[in-house]
Amino acid sequence: MVKVLVTDHVDDYIINTLRNKGIHIDYMPGISKEDLLKVIPEYDVIIVRGRTKVTKDVIDRGTKLRVIARAGVGLDNIDVEYAKARGIEVINAPEGSTQSVAELTIGFMIMAARLIALQDRLVKGGDWPKGKYPGIELFGKTLGIIGFGRIGQRVAELAKALGMRIIAYDVVDIRNRASKLGVDVVDFETLIRNSDVISIHVSLTPSARHMIGDREFQMMKNGVIIINTSRGEVIDTRALLKALNDGKVAAAALDVLENEPPKEPWEVELVKHPRVIITPHIGAETKEAQRRIAEILVNKLLDQIAKLNQ
Ligand code: NAD
Repeated sequence: MVKVLVTDHVDDYIINTLRNKGIHIDYMPGISKEDLLKVIPEYDVIIVRGRTKVTKDVIDRGTKLRVIARAGVGLDNIDVEYAKARGIEVINAPEGSTQSVAELTIGFMIMAARLIALQDRLVKGGDWPKGKYPGIELFGKTLGIIGFGRIGQRVAELAKALGMRIIAYDVVDIRNRASKLGVDVVDFETLIRNSDVISIHVSLTPSARHMIGDREFQMMKNGVIIINTSRGEVIDTRALLKALNDGKVAAAALDVLENEPPKEPWEVELVKHPRVIITPHIGAETKEAQRRIAEILVNKLLDQIAKLNQ
């Protein structure tokens, strides 16, 4: 009989559906690494979110392990290459949170353009800063989307409704999808030089790590707005802090950081910066996204478990 271990908090739908199908599930959200190493040899399937690190040692101890399932998108917490080399399937539900992340991105853009979080904080602190922080409209501005995959494309569709001109850059050929959405495809430097708002939606490939640093900030328009809901490592945090302090960047809205929660002194300074809006990696944290992810994952898991039972 197939045994499934769940090591992070997941939507009840996953647990209930699999149990109703008679599948043996042990739900141990928050299990320590030490305990995980002790119990993993018993299981055929492990289900995780972002907390559990499925590293080489976990995979090596999981002698029966056949499937690693990530209830979510990013696979950065799983040693995918090593798992695949051991013949273990790695599954996730990347399409489940696209709309939620795209909506957060649009919210961030409007908040940053009008410094909504800063004005809110000042009023709550007893100030009435009317006239102190004039914002900008997004209408007619150029939005540069870096990484034109699922989320990048959905952001483009939504931003069209705000009357923005949209340019996009990706490492793969995106001309087809871009022309369908009325988006101009440009090279990286053209995007960096011409955007009023830059929104990053790349997957964390080696080429994406620190792709936005001092050199890129220097090339940007004065008063640019930076939005990052992808992965923190894409931006050199120190360079962003400098660009904010120099006035090059008017505002930044970030759902992700290089270290989550922030650890280095410059990261702590960045999140406290008055022109930075920061949320604790909540892109996929909506009821709808979690349910969609759960449904997609359960379907994929049932297929895999059926194969294991054959
Ligand atoms: P996707 O795979 O559909 O799209 C990513 C795109 O980035 C691809 O088209 C790829 O070719 C492109 N890309 C990769 N490296 C690049 C580079 N160096 N330069 C330009 N383009 C590059 O992924 P998605 O579902 O759209 O997700 C986008 C990002 O959002 C990922 O990093 C994902 O982990 C992140 N994400 C965050 C949250 C959150 O909670 N904030 C939730 C879901 C996804």
